Amino acid sequence: MKKSKDLLILDLDNTLIAAVHSVYIDGIDYPSDFISNNHHVNMRPYLQKFMEYALINWRVGIWTAATREYAEGILIKCNIDINKFEFIKVREDCTKGTDIDFSPIYIKDLSTLNEDLSRVILIDDKKESAQKHLDNIIIIPAYISAAQTADNRLLKLIDYLEELKKTKDFRSICKNTQEIFA
Ligand SMILES: [Mg+2]
Repeated sequence: MKKSKDLLILDLDNTLIAAVHSVYIDGIDYPSDFISNNHHVNMRPYLQKFMEYALINWRVGIWTAATREYAEGILIKCNIDINKFEFIKVREDCTKGTDIDFSPIYIKDLSTLNEDLSRVILIDDKKESAQKHLDNIIIIPAYISAAQTADNRLLKLIDYLEELKKTKDFRSICKNTQEIFA
């Protein structure tokens, strides 16, 4: 099968999973799916289905502002074969910047990838993450708790990405419509 050249980059925290450090777990009523590196983790609804779709139809990369140990530990416990990823980029692969309130942020600079950006899309819960490439990002609302049982953003994304694939330049679609899943 010819491999698609389209690259789908996925943020981890609050995009694919919600994680709470053990220190803060008191008072949270929902059971976690698993514990990894002292974090109680819940997988976003439809994660398995979404990853199955993504890994067949896209080249998939993970780009997180967290550490590699944290990210790989969680992905493995999600039963995702991390060898199938094009790359796993972590905090050191981000560019440091500052938010409007001057708090530090980690920017995912897509120009460092050496890819054709007309065929690259990043899914993230934070617009700031790709502030240099706002035409390449789809913002989905943060998944922060297992209480969000009705969340179906990952399911909706499958349909959206299938449509997106038909366009010549992803940036023409994503321009100014980053928050379509809000
Ligand atoms: Mg995130």
